[in-house]
Amino acid sequence: MKNNDEIFLCAICNIESGTCNEDCKFCTQSVKYKADIQRYKQKEIAQIVEEAKRARANNANGFCLVTAGKGLTPKRLEYVCEAAKAIKKENLGLILIACNGIATVEDLQTLKDAGVDAYNHNLETARDFYDEICTTHPWDDRYQTCLNVKQVGLRLVCGGIFGMGETQEQRISMLESIASLEPMNVPLNFFHPNEALPIVKNTITREEAFELITLARKMIPNAMKIMVAGGREVMFGDEQYKIFEKGANAFVIGDYLTTQGKTPADDIAELEKHGYKIKRERD
Ligand code: SF4
Repeated sequence: MKNNDEIFLCAICNIESGTCNEDCKFCTQSVKYKADIQRYKQKEIAQIVEEAKRARANNANGFCLVTAGKGLTPKRLEYVCEAAKAIKKENLGLILIACNGIATVEDLQTLKDAGVDAYNHNLETARDFYDEICTTHPWDDRYQTCLNVKQVGLRLVCGGIFGMGETQEQRISMLESIASLEPMNVPLNFFHPNEALPIVKNTITREEAFELITLARKMIPNAMKIMVAGGREVMFGDEQYKIFEKGANAFVIGDYLTTQGKTPADDIAELEKHGYKIKRERD
């Protein structure tokens, strides 16, 4: 067993999928690009609770309730709170994360009161590259939401995406912005191409991706988790376990929002084969 090599696992639950009117060019959930994905509103609460139980059984430490859309409407807020309360009632020992887009202080306080522990809102990219990837809402609204998360005392989960055509300076700029928010956890995504999207390919190499993980750890040293999220399988292929050598200590198990992941059992077996231990307790 290696020393200090406990890895956190996090599971995502897409509770509303593919119904977003925004135009983020990396996102298959936008209705504008007509990607071939499942689209639905409001997954059944009982099913969400079942998925939370399964995630815990698979040793997930965090469970994230994700909705598609620019932000929280009153109806969506009520629904996420209902899901959060139903999961909390089960006492599964999961850290409950909500990821529902742009949010006000009042929305976030309501989520907190319903039992949500953390809020995930990514900056996605550098401020000066953002107009290239989204024209329907500004980067500053994203940053403000992260500040709102901190204001209400929820744990902040804040990361972004690499490989959408940004320069190295812009990658560093995004990491600087994330660092300025002092998030608890930092999910790093690597653009996963889809033929329906306007961004056609991932523009970074595997070696560059490894270096970016190391850079993120160096620039955001106090984050509890540097997490490799979307794009892991495609970006790192058969060298996925090396992400931990480079500075990551968390990853997403199971499926992503609209793409399939490896099975949790395969991921866990691979981790253990390389001498890593899974952090099972709630942090
Ligand atoms: S706002 Fe969120 S769900 Fe909507 S297109 Fe952008 S990233 Fe996708």
